Amino acid sequence: MAGEPQADCVFCKIVAGGIPATVLRKTDHTIAFRDINPQAPTHILVIPHAHYANAAELAAAEPLIAAELLAEAGEAAREDGLDAYRLIFNTGAGAGQTVFHAHVHVLGGKPLREGMV
Ligand code: 5GP
Ligand code: ZN
Repeated sequence: MAGEPQADCVFCKIVAGGIPATVLRKTDHTIAFRDINPQAPTHILVIPHAHYANAAELAAAEPLIAAELLAEAGEAAREDGLDAYRLIFNTGAGAGQTVFHAHVHVLGGKPLREGMV
């Protein structure tokens, strides 16, 4: 069922505590933790507890949780000392998505190249 935990999903395992992560923030609906393979000095992932394949599916099913994800991304960035950061939602393997549980990347801590890619 939509939103239910998936046995083969690494982020569902992090939500359940079955895989350790450096958790920075937690709400009833979201978790923010450090990416295991950081691409910038700050590289945080914010995910919903509920399993949706990508951000658009999350927003369609749970708009309030999608909004909370964005607010938590901002709070996590602020707590890491960032006043400038980039949020990225890879959607689909062709765009680089490798974990099919909705997540936003929070990247910052070095000058980010201008532009979208
Ligand atoms: P995607 O490529 O799907 O947008 O991003 C998935 C991200 O999850 C990657 O940046 C990858 O480094 C991160 N990741 C994958 N497995 C784990 C894990 O077990 N723990 C943590 N903290 N990050 C992970
Ligand atoms: Zn999942």
